[in-house]
Amino acid sequence: MTRDALAERKAASGLSPVPNVYDAEPIPDAARAEIERLLASGDLFRYTAPEGAPVAKLEAEFAEHMGVRYALAVSSCSAALFLSMKALDLPRGARVLVPAFTFAAVPSAVVHADCTPVLVEVGANMRIDMDDFRAKLAEGADAVLISHMRGHTSDMDAIMAACDARGIPVIEDAAHSLGTLWSGRKIGTIGKIGCFSFQSYKLVNSGEGGMLITDDPEIAARAVIMSGAYEHNWKKHPGLQNSFHLWQNKLPLYNMRMHNLSAAVIRPQIPLIEDRVARGLANHDHVADRLNTSPWLEVPAPLPQEVRAPDSLQFNLTGDWTDDEARAFQEAASRHGVSVQVFGLSRDNARAFWNWQFLDEMPDLPRTRAMLMRACDTRLPARLTQEDLDVIVSGILAATEAVKGA
Ligand SMILES: *Cc1c(COP(=O)(O)O)cnc(C)c1O
Repeated sequence: MTRDALAERKAASGLSPVPNVYDAEPIPDAARAEIERLLASGDLFRYTAPEGAPVAKLEAEFAEHMGVRYALAVSSCSAALFLSMKALDLPRGARVLVPAFTFAAVPSAVVHADCTPVLVEVGANMRIDMDDFRAKLAEGADAVLISHMRGHTSDMDAIMAACDARGIPVIEDAAHSLGTLWSGRKIGTIGKIGCFSFQSYKLVNSGEGGMLITDDPEIAARAVIMSGAYEHNWKKHPGLQNSFHLWQNKLPLYNMRMHNLSAAVIRPQIPLIEDRVARGLANHDHVADRLNTSPWLEVPAPLPQEVRAPDSLQFNLTGDWTDDEARAFQEAASRHGVSVQVFGLSRDNARAFWNWQFLDEMPDLPRTRAMLMRACDTRLPARLTQEDLDVIVSGILAATEAVKGA
């Protein structure tokens, strides 16, 4: 049934309309005047203006928002991850630990940087399995890339302690974690480098875009040059002048710069982050509390150090579910107007590691596989109303009952 047909049926039956979980929030009006100005002047390239380009302003504002020294705006989070590994000067073939529950673009960025992704098991709580992490670290690793997948934060205290003890750099993939706190610290500021996404399904939306943050001047300078600050364009990045002299003409230029129009779309959303995070978390917790009343469903609890910033909901089908029952649950939820995807049961899912056939080796990861076969994903944008949330809760509970009985 199409969404329109479903909405009509619900309206005719007097039931609540199906919430539209797909549309993004409108871009703040403040972006329009700036875009108009840029279109009128044709000033779209970040390095044309001698100073004050929208991309440069965004970098300053983002660095201040995160409380870090350096921020580099780029074309995507994948580009930021790639540049992170390049800026760390990892040797060809370097082993980079990556959680096995992430988006295909993450191990792809590792491959792009001529490194070897080593997939680490992820538990039923959707966070890195620390026993497997420590074992793989002991087998040898050159860097660690932590994807806080769907905003689920892995145990950063344990990860940092293990990596610091061996002097291994940590990159945080915080693409989907803008606004998440860990013991009061902003996620993305705990590792050596943090990377964010402004792709449309993330908290801040410019269609495409990414950001790399760090406090390390050498890493920042190298990433700036490799992102495409050719010749002396690095002079337009403050606070790094001495470092840039070290790297002039020594590094390849990968041209992954951000467009001025993207920055114009992002800047007015920075002040909205806090409110979006608060609404997203309230929505999530409201739905999670209700779903956790069912013996067949479980929303993984945050770790004690973690204050989440979710804009989607993940829950596990717990107890005895066959694959067929899980598929029937997906279908029943859809009939109730709620689109639920079991990660491992939807064909060609980019978050199921067995579909990453571009990897040289396909490891056996039974714990991650078991999680993916019963972990459900549903969109839950911050703008939903209480009524929308209740339709989603009732739909999921009704679908559970349809398959498992009352
Ligand atoms: C979206 C996402 C990415 C990729 O971000 P892009 O900006 O689209 O490259 C990487 N990691 C995670 C966890 C994501 O959610």
